[in-house]
Amino acid sequence: MDGRFAPSPTGSLHLGNLRTALVAWLFARSAGSRFLVRMEDLDESVCTPEHEQSQLADLDALRLSWDGPVVHQSERGALYDAAIDQLTEAGLTYPCWCSRREILEAPSAPHGAPPGAYPGTCRDRDPATAPEGRPPALRLRAGETRVAVIDRIHGEFDGVVDDLVLRRNDGTPAYNLAVVVDDADQGVEEVVRGDDLLPSTPRQVHLARILGLTPPSYAHVPLVLSPDGERLAKRHGAVTLAERGSASEVRSLLAASLGLSRPGEGVTMNSLLERFDPEQLPRQPWVLRPDEI
Ligand code: GLU
Repeated sequence: MDGRFAPSPTGSLHLGNLRTALVAWLFARSAGSRFLVRMEDLDESVCTPEHEQSQLADLDALRLSWDGPVVHQSERGALYDAAIDQLTEAGLTYPCWCSRREILEAPSAPHGAPPGAYPGTCRDRDPATAPEGRPPALRLRAGETRVAVIDRIHGEFDGVVDDLVLRRNDGTPAYNLAVVVDDADQGVEEVVRGDDLLPSTPRQVHLARILGLTPPSYAHVPLVLSPDGERLAKRHGAVTLAERGSASEVRSLLAASLGLSRPGEGVTMNSLLERFDPEQLPRQPWVLRPDEI
């Protein structure tokens, strides 16, 4: 089952990102499969080559070897354009002039949809009534379909697919579209990533199906939380590999958090591969202790 790690090069990877990368690597390599790295660098305002280099250096330091060249979303515009054209020709897209604020303030988001789901304001709008001078985004006409996903860690997850954005109003292809097109194009069979993306998965499965692509299987890894129970951030302490100083210490910490070693035990990648069992992965967030950070 070919797998991948697909960070956005917007900063240093923290312990949570590194742990997800390790789990993704273990899934792929324990199955004797390829492990790919893709830089999700479509947002030019926040992605930099320096962050990419530091992220790749961290993966290398942890010995998370990958296959083939690193793929960059910023170089794959033609693939996303083709997918958007295909949906437009099938009558499945429409322009949307809503601002983020209008969407958040709209009274009726679809029932059971993820936060920020689109309420359908522009779905049947006459373009003659569009606000002047504001370029439109392009949305999928999804029809509020429900899609159930089987996740290897979380079990069944059921969600509403809203009229998600395919192309932002600055012309950039949207994350949900790019990820679906890329995973299919790169032959990714199993997506292993942080479980903050579980609510987006029904959208991505739906998108894959209507594009005639086979959706991958999914394993969403629980997040790492700071000792005060918040999502991990720089202010919580030494959260990056550079701040911790030692790749082997970080590997041991991550392995212990996954139940693959005793606290403080030195581990090799081979020993982790031998011990790895997807069924035994923790299903709860890893809450760091004050002495671990
Ligand atoms: N680029 C996304 C992130 O860094 C991950 C996308 C994915 O794994 O599907 O959060």
